[in-house]
Amino acid sequence: MTRKTRHSTFPALLILCFAHAGGQPQQNFDNVQIHVEPVQHNIYMLVGAGGNTTLQVGSEGVLMVDTQFAPLAPKLMAEIRKLSPGPVRYIINTHMHGDHVGGNAAIAKLAGSDPALPLKIIAQENVLNRLTATASVQPRFPEEGLPIDEYGTPTKNLHFNGEAIIIYHEPSAHTDGDSVVLFRGSDVISTGDIFTPDGYPFLDIEHGGSVQGEILALNHILQLAVPAKTQEGGTYIVPGHGRICDDADIVEFRDMVVIVRDRIRAMIQKNMTLDQVKAAKPTLDYDTECVTSNSFVTADRFVEAVYKSLAP
Ligand SMILES: [Zn+2]
Repeated sequence: MTRKTRHSTFPALLILCFAHAGGQPQQNFDNVQIHVEPVQHNIYMLVGAGGNTTLQVGSEGVLMVDTQFAPLAPKLMAEIRKLSPGPVRYIINTHMHGDHVGGNAAIAKLAGSDPALPLKIIAQENVLNRLTATASVQPRFPEEGLPIDEYGTPTKNLHFNGEAIIIYHEPSAHTDGDSVVLFRGSDVISTGDIFTPDGYPFLDIEHGGSVQGEILALNHILQLAVPAKTQEGGTYIVPGHGRICDDADIVEFRDMVVIVRDRIRAMIQKNMTLDQVKAAKPTLDYDTECVTSNSFVTADRFVEAVYKSLAP
């Protein structure tokens, strides 16, 4: 599909994208509505505020990828209940940013707990480490929302609702705890913020992100995704923010990141300073498409993150 054909929510999202994990955003969520978009087979994308939520529903219950912000939990659960009366058995967090993990505890509370069918919150172990390392930050991240089913291996497998679900750790990409979730039967990939179409990626250097890891992760997602013959359809991609995408959208995004990386690397090899690189505007031909007045990741912010990733 061509870019923007399923564009829905992108301009508003980046303002909220990167609220700190433990904090509450300064936003009123009263008017936020949850939009449910069918993706493929039994997979849905739930769009509200913050990161996209991916939902898999079936006879065994509900699996969620990311939970947006805590105040949205009742609205998210209301939509989930329209799709499935079953227990919420899994939350997978793609990374530690507050707009992706903020609703964990509230969803866990609303979903109720059946000791025989407990809810497991899964994330790469660096997510747990980061969420618990902020002892001085108030409010603390609620314990009931912590991903205590953390993994430290390159992959983690589940079988749920009749399909294999494979979670891949993508090291040092958007952060150091990024997971990509492949729904192998439904042929859907949930990428978290490694992929944010129509904008620049947020490389969170402070939390272990890097442009090198970002490119490796995008290439890995491309290995997992198989386009259909017509270049429409095939594997569908639920990005961290924005519209449902496919293989071609990732190729375009990956190429942009690689080209900008190459330009900035060449400038660093000429011993240009960060200010000189910014002044040279190495993203100029992409800025119209990738930056709006609401963008959290401005051209300068993207350039700076790439520069810091590569600078000796
Ligand atoms: Zn993020």
